[in-house]
Amino acid sequence: MDRQKVVLVMIDALGDAVARAQCGYLMSLVEAGQARLWSMQSVLPSLSMPAYASLHTGTSPAEHGRVSNDLEAMAPAPNVFSVVREAGGTTAAVAERLYALLFNAAPFDDVEHLEVTDGPGWVTHGRFYTEVRHTRFNPSMPGDHDICNSASLLIRRHRPDYLLVHSAAADSVGHAFGADSFEYRHQIWNMDNELALAIPVWRAAGYRVLVTSDHGMSAEGRHGGAEEGMRQVPFWDICGGHGGEVEGAVSQLAVAPTILDLMGLPIPPEMREAPLVSRTYPATLAV
Ligand SMILES: [Zn+2]
Repeated sequence: MDRQKVVLVMIDALGDAVARAQCGYLMSLVEAGQARLWSMQSVLPSLSMPAYASLHTGTSPAEHGRVSNDLEAMAPAPNVFSVVREAGGTTAAVAERLYALLFNAAPFDDVEHLEVTDGPGWVTHGRFYTEVRHTRFNPSMPGDHDICNSASLLIRRHRPDYLLVHSAAADSVGHAFGADSFEYRHQIWNMDNELALAIPVWRAAGYRVLVTSDHGMSAEGRHGGAEEGMRQVPFWDICGGHGGEVEGAVSQLAVAPTILDLMGLPIPPEMREAPLVSRTYPATLAV
C-alpha cells in the first residue's frame, strides 16, 4: 500500500494542562511551527477501554458499547485497524492488553496474545504488555524507552502502514500518586523525552506522527467521570510546517477519521466527525 504512513502515540491519562506544562519537546515543535496542537475532549466514561475504542471507531461508547474496562470483547468494525487491513495495508501496535483485547483477540490470553507477527487479523504485528501485579512502588513498567524502541524496531522490520504506540505509565503513576504530584509530572516529562529521541526517527522513516491521550487524571488520582481534569487531553499533529496552537476544543471522535484522512483511505459513514487536519483554521492558528 503506497500511501502516507501514520504513527499514533497514545500517552495514557495525559491531561491537557499538564501536557502543555511538562512536554517540552512536543511544545517546542508547536512553538517552531512544526506541529499543530488542539485541546480535545475525551468521551464519557473517561476510561481506557471506552476511549481506546472511540479513538479507533470514531463513535461514542454509548454507540460502540465498550462502556467499562471490565468488558472482555473486541471493538466493532469499522475501526482504523480494520479499514487499513481491508485496503490491503498492514497495522502494528505496541500497547497494553486492553488494546490487544479490542483489536486482536478476546478474551486476552496472557501467553498466546502477548505477541503477533504477520497475523491475519486487524493487528498485523503486535507487541503487547499487561499491568499485572504492578504496585505503587513499581507502577511504570514497561519503560517508555523500551516501548518507543519496540515501535522503532517494528518500523525497521515491517514498515506498517498504521502503528499505535501506547504508554500506560502515566496512568499507573497518576493513580498511585495523583495528578498534582512530582511523580506524575516527572513521568509525563519522561515520555516526552523519549519521544524527543523517537519521533525524529519515525519522521525520517516517512511517518506522520500524531500524539494524544485517552483521558486525563484528577488531583486525587482518579478518572472515569466529567470532573475537572478528567476529560481535557491534548492532540498534536507533527505536520512539519504551518503549526501552532488551535483555539477551542475538538472531539476525541475526530481522531479516527483524521488518521484515515491522512492515509487517503475512505472514511466510513459511522465516523461522523470531520477530520482535523483537512479543516481550515485561518483565524485561530497562531504560529
Ligand atoms: Zn486509569
